[in-house]
Amino acid sequence: MAICYRIAGHVKHAAKEDSRLFNLDAPYPVSGFFIACGMREEEKMDTWKKRTKAVHSGIRRSQYNEVSEAIYLTQGFVYDTAEDAEARFIKAGADEFIYARYGNPTVAMFEDRIAALEGAEDGFATASGMAAVNGALTSMLKAGDHVVSARALFGSCLYILEEILPRYGVEVTFVDGTDLAAWEAAIRPDTKVVFFESISNPTLEVTDIAAVSKLAHAVDATVIVDNVFATPVFSNALEQGADVVVYSATKHIDGQGRALGGVILGTREFIRGTVEPYMKHTGGSMSPFTAWMMLKGLETIDLRVRAQAATALYLAEQLEADGKLANVIYPSLASHAQFALTMAQMQAGGTVLAIDAGSQKAAFALLNALEIWTISNNLGDAKSIATHPATTTHQRLTPETKAILGITPGLIRMSVGLEDPDDLLADLRAAIASL
Ligand SMILES: *Cc1c(COP(=O)(O)O)cnc(C)c1O
Repeated sequence: MAICYRIAGHVKHAAKEDSRLFNLDAPYPVSGFFIACGMREEEKMDTWKKRTKAVHSGIRRSQYNEVSEAIYLTQGFVYDTAEDAEARFIKAGADEFIYARYGNPTVAMFEDRIAALEGAEDGFATASGMAAVNGALTSMLKAGDHVVSARALFGSCLYILEEILPRYGVEVTFVDGTDLAAWEAAIRPDTKVVFFESISNPTLEVTDIAAVSKLAHAVDATVIVDNVFATPVFSNALEQGADVVVYSATKHIDGQGRALGGVILGTREFIRGTVEPYMKHTGGSMSPFTAWMMLKGLETIDLRVRAQAATALYLAEQLEADGKLANVIYPSLASHAQFALTMAQMQAGGTVLAIDAGSQKAAFALLNALEIWTISNNLGDAKSIATHPATTTHQRLTPETKAILGITPGLIRMSVGLEDPDDLLADLRAAIASL
């Protein structure tokens, strides 16, 4: 029996309604979508470990029974009759598509696969990570609502919380994400959303998901976690208390610097009832071709991210022991302020470390001396990438805010790729020695 294409219960429900789905010998067209595989019990799929889910979850096979996921590069879908079109606009059934902005078979495969990996009921794929962050927040907020957010955020996340939401009457209180007393003081009975990056960009502060979620849930606030640095491999954010997890798929999910993408993960009620209506009418949906790339990315994410994290730890330990830098920051280094929390929450430090060369002049000289590491601003790529946040990704911030966030003039964010660890270390050591 072929591997099932859908872990979600609603297809199973549809299968009960449409007995043709149970004829496994001959593929039958079902409302414009071809089903050619049998349904493996969803309970069984739930017992699969992450690496198995990353390869098999969500697959839908066409009448050709292809092995690799098909790219349904179509914006629209044909209805057999005018009545069928009317019925689908009234209520689309499972795997019944209308328009690619609303959903598409290849995109649905990606949504189901990443949802299975994260342990979420459902997901909505977006055009970029920022479309996911914006969609998760804006789809559920309205004028008068109160949000509490960690201050240490990716530049564009900060722009949404600091500039855009207040413009529409949403009040946002910023806190130090590592300070539980600050969260407790800021969360109010009327707080609607709590937002933070589980590991902050670029200073790699770790927020206690379980503890902050407990405070938020005491007032019925929704916990939205930007989980990019934790990756679906190391994250158990939903299990630890988060209600909604967002990813920039541009980073580790693609993992090879090819495309922008994102995803919002949460309960089926939140994704289909709150997020989908907002996303499908405002246009931030993922393209089918991108979804196909992200699906293939998920197949190798576990191997890639574990190798990158092992190299990142190795580099951090060696550079710290060399003692030539003003600072080496990596969440699973024993010297990191949230080392114990990191190990309890993720059992790994992620694929990014940060170093402080001491000054902007030294940082620029170090960057310019690197031969293998590229100067760019993506992360999670197979290629190792070095970024100077103060003058690029976080340039917009005032000197005072940079100082509060620890974005010092000498700070360099190092996204560790898949190259040989000793080549990366030798390149870094040579650059440091040249200062
Ligand atoms: C990159 C990033 C984003 C934005 O993702 P895009 O795909 O570039 O839109 C959001 N949050 C974090 C933490 C990121 O690193």
